[in-house]
Amino acid sequence: MANSKLIIGNWKMNGSLGSAELANAIALAVKTLDPVNVEVVICPPFTLLSLVGQILNESDVHFGAQDCHTAVSGAHTGDVSALMVAELGAKYVLVGHSERRANHNEQSELIAQKAQAAISEGLKPVICVGETEGERLSGEAIKTVLSQIDNSLPIGCNEEQIVIAYEPVWAIGTGRVASNDDIKEMHEAIRNHLGPKFPRADKIKLLYGGSVNASNAEQILAVSNVDGALVGGASLKAQDFMKIVEAAISIVG
Ligand code: PEP
Repeated sequence: MANSKLIIGNWKMNGSLGSAELANAIALAVKTLDPVNVEVVICPPFTLLSLVGQILNESDVHFGAQDCHTAVSGAHTGDVSALMVAELGAKYVLVGHSERRANHNEQSELIAQKAQAAISEGLKPVICVGETEGERLSGEAIKTVLSQIDNSLPIGCNEEQIVIAYEPVWAIGTGRVASNDDIKEMHEAIRNHLGPKFPRADKIKLLYGGSVNASNAEQILAVSNVDGALVGGASLKAQDFMKIVEAAISIVG
């Protein structure tokens, strides 16, 4: 397991021009804490990427998009390419978030193409995977997630180019968190599964996501093979988000 943590805030479809203040507050708070082994990232909606990028310029906080298209440019009305995101100075892009898999019927094969497009532009794709409640109840959680990983990973990528976020669908935005034992079991299964595919699989950042908040972050981030968190709702308030960052700092020192 990597001895540093990555905390990513996913603003989803939230935020107006006034949200600049949120990015600013996070940048200032991170500067005060000066976290050496904790990387902090904000993923605002596309409309705020440029503004947030300007606010975070020269700060220690990175930013990313919540999706990208597989193509560099072309007749894809309403879409945004990885190149466009990279040009703004972003470092990350989420791909395959369960809300996109469900709302836009995105399949793992498409996610792999998006991840490849991101890598081609020098972005790090955060490849999201996770089982539904039905899949967990029927004992299929690990099988589902490992199969999503197999089909969502771009061919030939290396350890440094990707991040994987395990987010049980039933835990996203519900206030229900996977138990520490379930997180441990899943992250260990993912790490072991990546072993034969990557010579240094321990270098791949494995994030947990699903109702992470200020109160539960420390216990989740302490679980073995959890290298950070993908945070939705709790990333919309600077104070809550920073408590999660502080929890990460307290663990890695
Ligand atoms: C997410 O958006 O990826 C997420 C995990 O949301 P929440 O923290 O609100 O469950």
